[in-house]
Amino acid sequence: RLMQVLVNLLGNALKFTHQGSVVLRVRWLDPGVEFSVQDTGIGILPEQRQRIFQRFSQADAHIQARYGGNGLGLAISKQLVELLDGEMDFESEAGQGSRFWFRLPLQASEAPERSASGDQLPTPMHTAAVAWRILVVDDHPINRLLVKRVLQNAWPKAEVLEAVNGQQALEQLDQASVDLVLMDMVMPVMDGIAATAALRQEADAQLCHVPVLGLTANVNPLDLDRFKAAGLNEVMLKPFEPAALCAQIEQLLPVS
Ligand code: ADP
Repeated sequence: RLMQVLVNLLGNALKFTHQGSVVLRVRWLDPGVEFSVQDTGIGILPEQRQRIFQRFSQADAHIQARYGGNGLGLAISKQLVELLDGEMDFESEAGQGSRFWFRLPLQASEAPERSASGDQLPTPMHTAAVAWRILVVDDHPINRLLVKRVLQNAWPKAEVLEAVNGQQALEQLDQASVDLVLMDMVMPVMDGIAATAALRQEADAQLCHVPVLGLTANVNPLDLDRFKAAGLNEVMLKPFEPAALCAQIEQLLPVS
C-alpha cells in the first residue's frame, strides 16, 4: 500500500513538472514517519485546493485534456493512508511547485534476520538468455522506468522500447517487430483499450497477434470484460510484484 501511494505521488510530481526537480524525503518523526514528495512543477491554485482529493476530480478542465488521468489517484492514496491511521495533505504555490506529504504511525523495530533463502538471487527466468524486444507503453515516466528495470534484471539481453500513449505504441509497432507489449490502461491521446483494439485489426498476422499484457491500478469485473473484449491477453494490477510480473510475461512470450 505504501508503494502504491508513493508511486502515485511520485508519478504525479513527474507528470506535472516540466523542469526542475522532484524530491522524495523520508523523515523519522518520533513517533511515526513522514514521507514527502516535493516538485517544482505547475502547482495548484488555492481555489482548486478542495477538489484535489475528491474522486474523479482534477484541478481544472484543461488538465484532463493536456495531462490525461482519471482524477482517482489522490483520492485513493488519501483513503489508503487514512486506513493505515495516517494523514495526508499538501502545500502548493501555482507556478512554483507542490509538496505532497503523508504521515504514518510506524514504529521502529529491529531489522529482521536475513534468512538463508533471502540472500539467494531470485531464480533466473527460463528464457533469461533470449534477446526479447518488449514495448512498454505508459504515460508516467516513473512507471516506464520501473518496468524497464524489472525487465532488464530478468532478461539482461532484452531490448526495451518505450511509448507514452497508445498512438505512439501503434506507430512503433508498425516500425519494429516486438515480442510482447506491456500496456498501461489509462493514458492521454489513446488509451490501452483503444490501442489494443486497433492492434487486433492490423492486417499483418504477426503484428495482430502480438501478446499484450495490460497493467492497471483500478480494476473491477466490468473493466476486466472490456479489457478481454479489446484483445488483451492478460491484465495485472499495479503496483505489481516484480517476480509475478516476470512470471506472467514468460507465460505470454512466444516460445516459453
Ligand atoms: P490524475 O490521475 O487525474 O492525475 P490524481 O487524483 O492523481 O488524478 O490528481 C488529481 C489532480 O490533482 C490532478 O489532475 C492535478 O490537477 C492535481 N495534481 C496532483 N498532483 C499534482 C502535482 N504534483 N502538481 C500539480 N498538480 C497536481
